[in-house]
Amino acid sequence: MVKKSLIGLSAEETSKLIGVAGFNNTHAISVTQSIYKKRTTDIELIKKIPKKLREMLKENFSTGLFPPVESEVSADGTIKYLFRTGEGKLFETVYIPDNKRNTVCVSTQSGCRMGCSFCVTAGYGFHGDLSAGEIINQVISLPEASKVTHVVLMGMGEPMDNLDNVLKSCHILTSEWGLSFSPRNVTVSTVGITPGVKKFLEESRCNLALSLLSPFAQERKTFIPAELKYPVKSILRLLKDYPLRKSRRFSLAYVMIRGFNDTDRHLTELKSLIGGSGIRVNLLPFHPDGKDQFTSSSLERMLYFKHDLVISGISASIRKSRGIDISAACGLLARNLS
Ligand code: SF4
Repeated sequence: MVKKSLIGLSAEETSKLIGVAGFNNTHAISVTQSIYKKRTTDIELIKKIPKKLREMLKENFSTGLFPPVESEVSADGTIKYLFRTGEGKLFETVYIPDNKRNTVCVSTQSGCRMGCSFCVTAGYGFHGDLSAGEIINQVISLPEASKVTHVVLMGMGEPMDNLDNVLKSCHILTSEWGLSFSPRNVTVSTVGITPGVKKFLEESRCNLALSLLSPFAQERKTFIPAELKYPVKSILRLLKDYPLRKSRRFSLAYVMIRGFNDTDRHLTELKSLIGGSGIRVNLLPFHPDGKDQFTSSSLERMLYFKHDLVISGISASIRKSRGIDISAACGLLARNLS
């Protein structure tokens, strides 16, 4: 018999499961805190629960935590991990240390079906959704788990295409009985699937990052097919209408491609799209996969964009490339999986 995993269950679900055998909510919280905070891999080691409950759990459940099968270390300290599920789904996770801020970039799907032409993961195809347990496992089963300060759901996959598991993961990441991250330190990235974004805004307090690539719909849809069905302007309208609290951040990821989307015309349109909205802009270098006809904008051009956005009252920053030498940088995941 394949045992059900405890990882991926909320405190409410755990309470319901053990409640039928007469155990209470306090016991459920001892179980979830052991799994999520103490990263317990063996039910025998779960503390503060009655012996009878431990026996019942051992008989019917496993913790469900599983370690990565491979890792690669970049010259800049970034580490890329490969996970394989019991059914053989492969996905990558990236640990990015940066002084006191240590970020883990997790995948939400094995591969992706969005087909964005600038992204290597698209070429790997779609191999299945990840469960909430498989998403959370990428945070707690890394050797560096105790040092993680920020989580970004920006790895392989489109989070809004696996929204129920993503929402559940955000709930586990930010709950006191779970990993206790502040929602300000958890960011979900999307190319923009309008119904998913709407539901995410209503049901989660975590940050949202939207991939723009071009402020012009005609151009954007040649790189991001989702634009055809879900125009980015409608998503931006949703974000602008949403009462932005200090604790929640909306940002645009703008991958900069030389001569394609780094002209003054693009800058003017970008400013008119989000000026006065409080939405931040993250400028990212483009990472060619070796077959691309495009190259990244120069640092000088990126600095020019940043400066012009900032003096126009738009918060902007330049994101450094991390882990390029091990294909762990944005847009390069799954490069070695095909
Ligand atoms: S950019 Fe994101 S949504 Fe697009 S193919 Fe890559 S992983 Fe999927």
